[in-house]
Amino acid sequence: MPWYRQLHNRILAGLILGVLFGLSAAAMGWTTFASTWISPWGDLFLNALKMLAVPLVLASLVTGLTSLGDFSRLSAIGGRTVTIYILTTVFAVSLGLLAVNTLKPGEYVPEEIRAALQEEFVEEPFTFEEGAVRVQEQSPLAVLAEIVPENIVGAASNNRNMLQVVFFALLLGIGLLQLPKESSKPLVDVMGALSQAMIRLVRLIMMIAPFGVFALMADAIVTIAGDSVQDAMHLLTALGYYIVTVVVALVAHVLLAYGSMLKIWTNIPLREFYSKINPAQLIAFSTSSSGASLPVTMRQCGEGLGASPEVSSFVIPLGSTINMDGTAIYQAVSAVFIAQALGLDLSITQQLTIILTAVLASIGTPAVPGAGVIMLVVILEAINVPADGIALILGVERILDMLRTTANVTGDATVCMIVDAKQKQLATSGHQNIAAELSK
Ligand code: ASP
Repeated sequence: MPWYRQLHNRILAGLILGVLFGLSAAAMGWTTFASTWISPWGDLFLNALKMLAVPLVLASLVTGLTSLGDFSRLSAIGGRTVTIYILTTVFAVSLGLLAVNTLKPGEYVPEEIRAALQEEFVEEPFTFEEGAVRVQEQSPLAVLAEIVPENIVGAASNNRNMLQVVFFALLLGIGLLQLPKESSKPLVDVMGALSQAMIRLVRLIMMIAPFGVFALMADAIVTIAGDSVQDAMHLLTALGYYIVTVVVALVAHVLLAYGSMLKIWTNIPLREFYSKINPAQLIAFSTSSSGASLPVTMRQCGEGLGASPEVSSFVIPLGSTINMDGTAIYQAVSAVFIAQALGLDLSITQQLTIILTAVLASIGTPAVPGAGVIMLVVILEAINVPADGIALILGVERILDMLRTTANVTGDATVCMIVDAKQKQLATSGHQNIAAELSK
């Protein structure tokens, strides 16, 4: 197939052209034109993907669970999936802490920026969005309590509550497994058809992906650059070490943890894995939302890499909601960076608290743009670092959101392929055992 007909090349072209257009718009002062005439196309594409998220999560989780057939398989796959998700997140946070404690980016913040920030605290305390104020007043464990929805229709009305939808879908799947087959069949069939239809729609929506990504990137660049490219560059340079630290930890995690896991537990060549998963990564990068990327990730792992539907329809929706290694790295690095910039030394206990709270906070972070920085408040509160310090990193939040979301989505796809490989291996050895029994 010629290169320009391949989906990931077309999306990549949209992305590069979007960046170039955004830079020219910011430099020439066409920002109003860009936000009036270009941004809405990005929103259209983003909304179309987001529209699929709730029905897809509900239907595919229920289908995935019920197709496992019984509790022993459910607890084996579920246990394995959640264990890998949590262990990789702990590793990710530790890597983030190692990077930030070694590179010490907080010590390189120019004195005038630090002083301006501290002055800002006194004169005009930083005001949080409503969501951040809410998490500021919570215990880290409140994240767990919020998993249970008090009303499923209410939960399903907002993509931010996806964890609650996941919880309900898991229970519904378990409930259906307990019914006799003939009673559960009608609903299981409806859910199966709904899930397949959603995946079909992804194919349709992806036809406009290059244009959508173009508009999203142009909008992102215009937002980051604001009215002055020079000011934006100044901020990027001032926070350069911090950005580099987050990027180093993200790249190290993707290469070390995911790379070696794929090599050890699957026989998919890394090159093939990345070329198939690339469209999902590009969508994650340009939308900054694992939730919006979910339909594409599922499609690429299923149709692209051949993961069985029973595994991908369970592992990926769950992962897009609870598995956010990129976010966890970002939160750990940012918490220590803010402490360093404010001249606060963190004890070992505080660093260990970061590991625990960052794992919990990343699980509780909704798969939407900018959510990770709000959940960062939970960590800062737990280690007694003023949450207003977040003001220091907000200017570069958008760029880091794109990068961490890409890592989040890569993690979901990696774990899906590992669990899938294990299931296939178990199925083959099961068949071999049966064959051996029969031949006796
Ligand atoms: N945007 C991220 C995601 O959707 C969450 C975050 O803000 O860290 O995966």
